[in-house]
Amino acid sequence: MSLFETARKIYPRRVKGTFRSLKWLSMILLLGIYYAAPWLRWDRGPHVPDQAILVDLVGQRGYFFGIEIWPQEVYLLVGVLILAAIGLFFATALLGRVWCGYACPQTVWTDLFVWVERFVQGDRNARRKLDESAWTLEKLWKKTLTHLIWLLIGAVTGGAWVFYFNDAPTLFSDLWHLDVSWSVLGWIIALTLSTYFMAGFARENVCTYMCPYARFQSAMFDKDTLIITYEAERGEPRGKHKKGESWDGKGHCIDCDSCVIVCPMGIDIRDGLQMQCISCGLCIDACNSVMDKIELPRGLIRYDTESNQRQRREGYRTLDIAHRKSGKTVVPPQKMRWVRPRTVAYALILSTVGSLMLTAIVLRPMTELTVNHARAPQFVRLSDGSVRNNYQIKILNKSHDDRAYRLNTQGLSQARLEVLAAGDETVETLHVPANSVASFRVRVDTPEATAHGRSDIRFLLSETRNPAQNSGNTPESARHDSYFIR
Ligand code: SF4
Ligand code: SF4
Repeated sequence: MSLFETARKIYPRRVKGTFRSLKWLSMILLLGIYYAAPWLRWDRGPHVPDQAILVDLVGQRGYFFGIEIWPQEVYLLVGVLILAAIGLFFATALLGRVWCGYACPQTVWTDLFVWVERFVQGDRNARRKLDESAWTLEKLWKKTLTHLIWLLIGAVTGGAWVFYFNDAPTLFSDLWHLDVSWSVLGWIIALTLSTYFMAGFARENVCTYMCPYARFQSAMFDKDTLIITYEAERGEPRGKHKKGESWDGKGHCIDCDSCVIVCPMGIDIRDGLQMQCISCGLCIDACNSVMDKIELPRGLIRYDTESNQRQRREGYRTLDIAHRKSGKTVVPPQKMRWVRPRTVAYALILSTVGSLMLTAIVLRPMTELTVNHARAPQFVRLSDGSVRNNYQIKILNKSHDDRAYRLNTQGLSQARLEVLAAGDETVETLHVPANSVASFRVRVDTPEATAHGRSDIRFLLSETRNPAQNSGNTPESARHDSYFIR
């Protein structure tokens, strides 16, 4: 006895139509962006990478055109993730599983792999026959060629991915000369194999069994969400129909199974909306072309909402079956309610998070100061009777220019400040190179009489510029609150 259903291979048939064209367009656009984006350049000045989109793991920096993200600004990534999640919920509430059908990487790459399979082995019946036939030379070369192209696409996909983490032209040249690190090679091999496996073999099983989104998407649906629907009122009772025969007592579905055999998920939408349906619309294209051939109105399968469906059902009840052929005008027209509490709520969250992120990006300082009080010992009593606290400070200069700063304190009267650079050399001016973090040790001494227990102390950092350096920007400043212990 088997505990699991045996997976049956699906051989989707080629189909033409509006939604198929939309899917091709979406695939070309998304794959084009994915493969081309690492090659885009963006001039940021000297000593800074000129790749428009780059995750520089060594330099601990993220670059997205004019935006640079430092590890300290990881909250921006959290914002991006929130925007992506709410954006997906918003799109789902409006258009159903539009992401699954047109933009999910699993769908896009599977579509591409099926296209390759079809190009080499032929359409549905030819592929099926080939699989069922014994091994011959023809089967061997067709299968080998298919798998080689799949592996090549997988390698290009993995290759493109690592370009996002390295300078693309340099890495390409290194790859060409087989001079790359094991980690780069490992990533390319892992992504090649995962693409090959996911799009070549796992296919619809990823959506059905692995992806959690398919499970909870219904929570985002309401009666006005666009879904794929079959108009049972119009289509049933289904059955074969000969040209010229009367439609009396018959539904418009001629039971040709075209909608089933083009479905990449292998389901029959006439059984109602199912979790497996990724809303790709290919069954609509298939059924519309059948309707065109038998000269009936299109839209037996269509994108529609639950509310519209209910109204249409009511409309059909008023129709005599013989009038269904011209029933387009009697059945209530399709209406969409885009503005609903749920969509308004998602739009509000999206615009709020988007505005907050934009403000955070525009207003973020180019200099940051962090101060850590030394704990062992917490304070030192000096021979002249004064008390000393030690601090470790870090100055982050996010600009593309070397900068000089001066440090002061506030809050402790008569505090004396001493800054020590590397090698314990006392410095007045704190120099921090462009795009870097510099550390200094700081000693703060006060006469014992002015310090009691734990006192607040504020460190103030201000940029110093000589007139020749003045670039017209306001000098940067930063501050950090700490404490002084006696
Ligand atoms: S039922 Fe139609 S829309 Fe749903 S996955 Fe199959 S072909 Fe795509
Ligand atoms: S393609 Fe249309 S007519 Fe053919 S079986 Fe599907 S619903 Fe019926």
